Amino acid sequence: MEIAVRQSSLERSRGSHDSKKCPQCRAEALVMLRRHVSPPQWGAPVVTEYYDCEYCEASYQFSPADNRWRPIYH
Ligand SMILES: [Zn+2]
Repeated sequence: MEIAVRQSSLERSRGSHDSKKCPQCRAEALVMLRRHVSPPQWGAPVVTEYYDCEYCEASYQFSPADNRWRPIYH
């Protein structure tokens, strides 16, 4: 299983907030396009960040709350 290895490398790079690794090509080329916070009337705010990879041109949305990447299909 490759997934466990990926998660541990994410843990290690947590200190530096700007270099996020692309889940697809693993280059540290992700650029944040925008950051969305859910409106307060929804309850606890949910943060969603949108990224583009400059290396492989993949698009992702990232939820810091559960540390999960979701691919965005065009
Ligand atoms: Zn990439």
